[in-house]
Amino acid sequence: MSDLPGSGDELLVFGAESVATDETATTRVWHILIVDDEPDVHQATEFALVDTVIQGRPLVFLHAYSGAEALQVLKTIPDIAAILLDVVMEQEDSGLRLIKVIREDLKMTDVRIILRTGQPGYAPEVEAIRDYDINDYKTKSELTRSKLYATVTAAIRSYEQLKTIQAGRDGLEIIVRSSAELMALQGLKSFAAGVITQIAALLGVEPEGLVCAQEESDGGLRVVAGAGRYTDSINRPVSELPDPRVAQALLHCIESQQNLYDTRSTTLFLGGETLTRVAVFLDLPLELDLLDRSLLQVFCANIAVGFDNVTLFSRLKGVAYVDPVTRLPNRNRFVELVASAMAEPQAHGQSCVALLDLDNFGAINDAFGHRFGDLLLAAVGQALRAQLPPEVVVARLSGDVFGLLGAADQLAPQAVMQCLEGPLTIDGRFVVATATMGLCLMRESRGEGADVVKDANLALKQAKMQSRRGHAWFRPEMAQQVRDRIRMLQALELAFKTSELSLWYQPQISLADHRVVGVEALMRWRAPEGQLIPPDHFIPVAESSGLIVEMGRWALREACYALMRLRSGGWTQLRMSVNVSMAQFRDPNFLATLNQALADSQLPPQMLELEVTESVASGEMTLFVELLDQIKQLGVSVAVDDFGTGYSSLSYLQTLDVDTLKIDRAFVREVSDSASACRIAEMVVRLGHELGMRVIAEGVETPAQRDLLAQMGCDEAQGWHYAKAMPEADLQAWLRAG
Ligand code: C2E
Ligand code: CA
Ligand code: CA
Repeated sequence: MSDLPGSGDELLVFGAESVATDETATTRVWHILIVDDEPDVHQATEFALVDTVIQGRPLVFLHAYSGAEALQVLKTIPDIAAILLDVVMEQEDSGLRLIKVIREDLKMTDVRIILRTGQPGYAPEVEAIRDYDINDYKTKSELTRSKLYATVTAAIRSYEQLKTIQAGRDGLEIIVRSSAELMALQGLKSFAAGVITQIAALLGVEPEGLVCAQEESDGGLRVVAGAGRYTDSINRPVSELPDPRVAQALLHCIESQQNLYDTRSTTLFLGGETLTRVAVFLDLPLELDLLDRSLLQVFCANIAVGFDNVTLFSRLKGVAYVDPVTRLPNRNRFVELVASAMAEPQAHGQSCVALLDLDNFGAINDAFGHRFGDLLLAAVGQALRAQLPPEVVVARLSGDVFGLLGAADQLAPQAVMQCLEGPLTIDGRFVVATATMGLCLMRESRGEGADVVKDANLALKQAKMQSRRGHAWFRPEMAQQVRDRIRMLQALELAFKTSELSLWYQPQISLADHRVVGVEALMRWRAPEGQLIPPDHFIPVAESSGLIVEMGRWALREACYALMRLRSGGWTQLRMSVNVSMAQFRDPNFLATLNQALADSQLPPQMLELEVTESVASGEMTLFVELLDQIKQLGVSVAVDDFGTGYSSLSYLQTLDVDTLKIDRAFVREVSDSASACRIAEMVVRLGHELGMRVIAEGVETPAQRDLLAQMGCDEAQGWHYAKAMPEADLQAWLRAG
């Protein structure tokens, strides 16, 4: 084969013989070992596969006529790609025994094994095939040329893949190790000499090459290190190298700033434009495959940094430490600053880390686009930077989260939030941003270094759970609370799987005629020890993990079926109210789930009502309005739960086409003889009626509350005055008792 690229050989079709006879130490071949006690099989196999070239490499056959001979060959020739192995030789199981030795004793895991047997119908045990990674199994009668070709090709492909994976792993390991070793070397010369040795080791060849570097004075190239036949060239200008081919390659490499791969040599470029330019020339009598090339690429990138250059290093630092959107320090930088502040004990007293999370940023991004979102982030960053004292560090940590580091009195939540009330001007629009804050005093954090940022994040999560625009200070108990939540979540998942959850039902009564008009389904978790865990504990955990989606799906179906059972017992006028969390609405399958529950249970949709909490519903307006519309189209009705505790406006209520308002327990509790205490409940009733809604009061505990609510015109009531939530059987009994 010719060395000269572009000499037109691609037009000549070489016969396979010319390749085989041309086999030198450097031509790459596939070694195939045939193990069989019948010489005929050897001949037939070789004959069938003669001229075969797979991925540009010819096959070279090795022959063994017994298990012992095969072992001999395997020990002397390490890179056998595939073995065509006779199962039955001297003994019934010679082949299988050989496999065991190959895989277990010789630890040759890459070589592919194709089993062959003379007796059709005789198959080795499945266990052998599974345990010893056998590629294929063929009877000898199947040894037609095409079948054999397909089998061997497949085996070689998979051998090569295995090799590639392994080589990649080995190569990267060498790179990592050698980079570390190289960094420890002082001075360009020893470093350059190290580079040659390491590359040679990486490629598994003898070190034979040189490194040249561009001189700062005149830009000329000079050899700084050499190995093998290039040792004499050290310190000489490249132009004076005896072999003009080498000088040419080096010049070309430096100019194009690219690695050059030739059939006889490889020239590597090290370093970017700010570095002294460096190139490495290596005698490599074999063509590098893709893997080797990409490993070298990684190596060069790694090594380039080693030619210590302050400019490059500081530039890298710049990229690594500044957030491009706000031009503020990024998370890496912030974490470093926090860690060094932590390391200064006298600063601890009042130092504080605060995380600031913009409210509704996702919705703003969706509504106005990402460009607007970026501008908003930049404006927020600017406002914080401009209005907070210069000693305070302002950074952008991720998405819509900013980090602040300063003295506690400089980071007072009110003061920080005020920075955003500007309002900010973005694209000529005025925007008022609000945020939620989590803060942690350094002395409160029990962790080390930047752990205080994690603690502030815990506080932020806590603040978000409470409400938006709020803030929370980290308390050491929070870490415990998080662990508790995780433990509870695990227990809850198990409980859900093992049916420890059940639905209980609380009656809803018409205030006008005291009839039972419906029931609300409420989840109960009976732990194995027997105690009941209240939903207020486990529903928020399920919501935060998404488990609520599955749990809610179950509750919805179960409630539908329960009502069907009540209906067949004669209670045909009852309505079923089911609580639905926002997380369930966000599930794209919610509507399908609802449909399916109705279809499977055969429950008339008018008998079902979904309860949504007000504060939750006000979060994602568009999504919610659309979904509500579709729910209403099914004939299912919707109630706003806990009304009065959120902050929805009238217009918002009007847009939402809901059927029922549920006055929150907190206002019902206030209902007493004093007129002023009744006012909120009264307002809600009037408001609901004005909007054409039914109004139901929850948490009614006394006859007085019942009577006052009836006087206000409230339609329905639910509460312990009538009944607590109870299991289905108890409810049936309760209903029967009237
Ligand atoms: P909620 O929807 O506001 O449910 C009413 C809660 O008030 C129930 O608590 C009920 O037992 C309680 N209650 C009823 N009458 C009285 C009374 O006269 N006085 C007092 N003090 N309390 C009364 P429960 O069953 O502990 O449920 C708590 C919350 O858990 C529910 O509040 C609801 O938000 C959530 N939840 C319960 N089941 C489910 C469910 O299946 N899915 C979803 N997503 N949430 C559920
Ligand atoms: Ca409810
Ligand atoms: Ca409620």
